[in-house]
Amino acid sequence: MEIINRRQRMSSVARKVRRDQDQTIGLVPTMGALHEGHLSLVREARRMCDVVVVTVFVNPTQFGLDEDFAHYPRDLTKDAARLTDYNVDYIFAPSIEEVYPKDFATYVTVGGLSEQLEGAARPGHFRGVATVVAVLLNIVRPDFAFFGQKDAQQTLIVKRLVRDLAFETEIVVLPTIREESGLALSSRNAYLSEEEKRAAVILSHALTRAKEAYKAGERSGSRLVETVRATVAGEPLARLDYVSVTDADTLENLEKLDDRTVLIALAVNFGKTRLIDNIVLNRKKNGGSAAAS
Ligand code: AMP
Repeated sequence: MEIINRRQRMSSVARKVRRDQDQTIGLVPTMGALHEGHLSLVREARRMCDVVVVTVFVNPTQFGLDEDFAHYPRDLTKDAARLTDYNVDYIFAPSIEEVYPKDFATYVTVGGLSEQLEGAARPGHFRGVATVVAVLLNIVRPDFAFFGQKDAQQTLIVKRLVRDLAFETEIVVLPTIREESGLALSSRNAYLSEEEKRAAVILSHALTRAKEAYKAGERSGSRLVETVRATVAGEPLARLDYVSVTDADTLENLEKLDDRTVLIALAVNFGKTRLIDNIVLNRKKNGGSAAAS
């Protein structure tokens, strides 16, 4: 396993793999502080591809001014140690200047999809995500890139970006990995106190309640929203930011649920920590939904 810091070295290594060795490349973009959620992506990349590249880069452009960029957990030594068990070929851990050279001025905006949910709550967030993903895809030119359903809106945006700008990378979306309690793994869980962590299971509980209501025949979007809202309200440490019931492909709000695949997504604050989670209902068995994994 080699740790690469320079974009030129990464490009030339990837070019060699593609051209001289005719091997496939899998890219797993992360911001580090690796946990089992990230590692599930790495495992699938290892299974599907000849060469696996994991990027570790805390991307400043996707953080708002009042967000946690400065405090985001960073420990490349620990991340690299975890990745040695997974037979990863390259870690690409560039500095900010390597990704955003002086006078960087070109940003990618995926219209529409970037404005709802997380985009409404975090203006500019998805511009930062789409831009860094475009840069990373151009540097590595992978055959496959792996993303988690945990960030459902991000997967839709990345798929649209790849399609619209004709990147030759296939996007693979993998299921959310959870603790036994139901809490979705997240690097930001490290910010939670023991008490907040216990309280944070309310996100998955609320989604499970909505799923049960749906299974029992509830087809009103606003009543499902209310189910989630009321469940989160029962946890004194939780402050709901938003909950939405949308079409899983277009993120259009759904009032009357029909045969479309549904995404229920929410964001909840615990003190200064903001957590997100989601669930997909009525997933089509054979593709059909862009959110399908
Ligand atoms: P991050 O380091 O938070 O930017 O995440 C890097 C990748 O890991 C993204 O594609 C995330 O969606 C994915 N990811 C984060 N948490 C999980 C999880 N609990 N289960 C599956 N994938 C995850």
